This record gives sequence, C-alpha cells and structure tokens, in this order.
Amino acid sequence: MGSQWLPIADLAADVQAGKTSALELVEKSLKTIEDQQDYKAIIATTSDRAKERAKTIDGLVAAGKNAGRLAGVPFIAKDNFLVYGAETTAASNILKGFSAPYQASVIEKLEAEGAICVAKANMDAFGHGASTENSDFFVTKNPHDTSRVPGGSSGGSATSVVLDMAPFALGTDTGGSTRQPASMSGCVGYKPTYGLMSRSGIVAMASSTDTVGTLARTTSDAALVVDVMAGRDDLDGTTIERQDSYVGAHASLKGQKIGLIKEWMAEGLQDDVKSVVETAITKLQAAGAEVSEVSLPSLPLALAVYYILVPAEISSNLSRYDGQRYGYSSPEAKDLETSYRRTREIGFGKEAKRRIMIGTYVLSSGYYDAYYKKAQTVRTKLINEFNDAFKQFDFLVGPVAPTTAFKIGAIADPLQMYLCDVMTVAANMVGCPSISLPAGLSGNLPVGLQLMAPQKADKQLLALAGSAEDLLK
Ligand code: GLN
Repeated sequence: MGSQWLPIADLAADVQAGKTSALELVEKSLKTIEDQQDYKAIIATTSDRAKERAKTIDGLVAAGKNAGRLAGVPFIAKDNFLVYGAETTAASNILKGFSAPYQASVIEKLEAEGAICVAKANMDAFGHGASTENSDFFVTKNPHDTSRVPGGSSGGSATSVVLDMAPFALGTDTGGSTRQPASMSGCVGYKPTYGLMSRSGIVAMASSTDTVGTLARTTSDAALVVDVMAGRDDLDGTTIERQDSYVGAHASLKGQKIGLIKEWMAEGLQDDVKSVVETAITKLQAAGAEVSEVSLPSLPLALAVYYILVPAEISSNLSRYDGQRYGYSSPEAKDLETSYRRTREIGFGKEAKRRIMIGTYVLSSGYYDAYYKKAQTVRTKLINEFNDAFKQFDFLVGPVAPTTAFKIGAIADPLQMYLCDVMTVAANMVGCPSISLPAGLSGNLPVGLQLMAPQKADKQLLALAGSAEDLLK
C-alpha cells in the first residue's frame, strides 16, 4: 500500500519551503478521516483548532520565520491525551463531556515544533484491553479485514496510521497497547524507556508502567517524533534525562548480539506467527546479526504479575472519578454517597469495574502480602533477569503477540483476552524500550517482530530497528 504522506521530515521541510501549506496537509488528513469513517478509528476531530493552527504556521512561514521541525505535520492522539479542541474521554462514558483545561506535556512539545493534532483516536476505555472492543463507544475495525479487531488498546491510533489518516499517531503503552495494535494492524509501534516521555496530561492507567507510544509508518518517522517528545519535564517527577538525539543513521546488524527469547517461541504461539518471526530472524542473521536463544525463567510469571500490579494501580487512579470533578455525574443522587455510587455504577464499563475490584482486593490488608507484595518481589526478579540477559546481549527479540488479529467478538472471556499481552507486559514491568516492526504477513494479516533494548538505550534500539525494518520489507 503506497502512502499519501512523504516522510515526516520531508513534509515539514516542504511546508517550511512553501512547497505545500500546513492547511493543505491538515485538510488532506481531515478528508481521509472522513472517507475512512466506517473503520471507526476516530472519536472526534479537532478540525476547527487544527485549521486555525495550520493558518498560524503558514503565517510564520510566509513571514520567513522557522515553523519547527514538524511544521504543519498532522497527527492523531489517542483519546487519553489531554488535547484542546475536542473532549478527552479515554473512550469512557464517565469522562464524556470533559474538556482538557491544559494539554499533555508531549502534545505541547509537538506543537512547539509545529505539529498539528487533527483528531482523537478510539481505544479500549482507559486503556484496558487488547482489541479496542472495550471502548465504551464503538469497536474499531482492522484496516486489513473489517471483520477483525485492530488490536488494542491503541487500536484507533494504529488503524489511523495504516489507513493514512495522518503521518503518525500517539498511543500509550502500559502493557503492550502500542506494540500489539501495531503488530496486528501493520505499522511501527514504539514504547520508550519508562520515564523518557512525560506522563503529565495523560489519563493515568498504571502510573509505574504508563508510557507514551508512537505509531508511524517507518522507524525514521517514529524516531523524529520521539526526538521531539523525549526528556525531563517538571510536571512529571519520574521523567529522566534524554540521550543527545534519537534521529540519525541506522545501525549495522553486523556483529550485534541478539537474544531470541526462548519462552516466547514455545507453546501458545500460533504457527503462522512463529514462522513469520523465524523468517525475520533468518534475515537478521543473514545481515550479520549473531542471534542465539536466551532463557528468562521468570518470564512465564510476567503476565500474572502484571494483572496484580496494574489493577492495583488502576483501582487507585480511577478513584478520582467520583462525579464531582470530571465528566459524568449521576443526576438523580440526593446525597454525596449516592452520587459517588451511582456515578461509578453507571459511568464505568465492565472492564474498568473488574479491574477496580481486582485492584482493591490485592491491596486489601488481608491479601496484600499474598498478592501485591509477592508480585512486586517477582517484578524485581524479572528486572534482574533482564539485566543479566542484557549483559550477554545487546538486544532481545521475539514475537509481539501470540496470534494475528482475531475476529471481532471472538474472545468473550476476559482471562483469554489477558493472554494477548503475554509477550508485551515484560517490557513494561522492567521499564525497558521495545519496538514492534512489521515483519511480514500471514495471509493478508500483519505480524510484528518485537525488539527490546536495555533501559535508556532508546537511541540504539531505534537505530537497529531502522536497519531491521529495511530487511523485513
Ligand atoms: N492489554 C493490556 C491491558 O489490558 C495493555 C493495556 C495498555 O498497554 N494500555 O492491560
């Protein structure tokens, strides 16, 4: 599929040179969104504000001023980013009607370089899910097969990029929500080192694993966007110092030591996914990469750990939605207690309630030691095993998800849905960067390849992924 968009750096250069205008790009983006509305990737556009901003940028160019490294480049933000120009709902009923009083720090950084947010993308409500079926509004369709899911929770963002609605989109990745939809929909999905990008102004899911995800057509496009967003932010105390630059030459695969994760190539991996991943690995080897198997014995526990720790943080983060401060408030309540209860009963969907229940349970005094504390212990063990693996290997590789995109409605059991995350949650538990690259097709369905690097080696990971991507095309 050819794209209507040039590489992002070229788009911005053309706007700056007056060869095209920001308004033209924004209008092209909005038209594609409208033409593709049957895929239900978008919750709302920010068209009025986007056009205003485009005119401002075109004005800067006309006045001979620098309009930024992303001058006039349209993008789409997952609906859990606080953005002006449309409501921020995180695809939940309880946040309906909520307008952001300030913007997410990363949105501010993108805007400072001239990028223009044109729309908010659909998602599993609050990020809870792996198929976008948990959106309180509607289900997004897979861009390659409309009877299938696009993955999730950033399914709207992935679909929007693959359908060319914008040159890039933002997602979030708490347990795989950028990489898994990228794998199932067929684009690049990048999850940075925890703390590399500010979480300020993003609807919180699990604060110790939430990261900003980038969805793009190519690694080079993703790297440029990462370069603009990365770095410390006074509004998020967990942010870290950035590396000098994330853009630049692709790294040669020659002599790179890459560990193939044994536990992920074992049972449970769909045969066609396995064969695409194996073919991709062969290509990396042919280019000189030294790939050998590595075992991380605690890895099979990562999913259980995730589904204890993350609901614990979710139950805490979602306690702020009490009907008094944000969005929906039950109208018929006559006292505060009833207002809290009715608002949450009506406003939260099934999955949010399930996670609040699990989280409250594992944090309760009687069960804290048995679940929460034990899970934290295993998380530390997992971090140690990854540290050991990264002493032997420069990078780790494996599949992104056990299956290709499944049929809408096919997974009714929530525990079955949680299994979709079995290969993505580890990077979040450990905090290391990870990328999903299009590795090939099974029939008409995309399959991703996951590459991981040690914490704070985002630059090295993006440089390596750039060469891997060229090989896998
Ligand atoms: N699918 C995972 C979950 O449901 C990951 C979600 C995410 O990364 N936001 O928790």
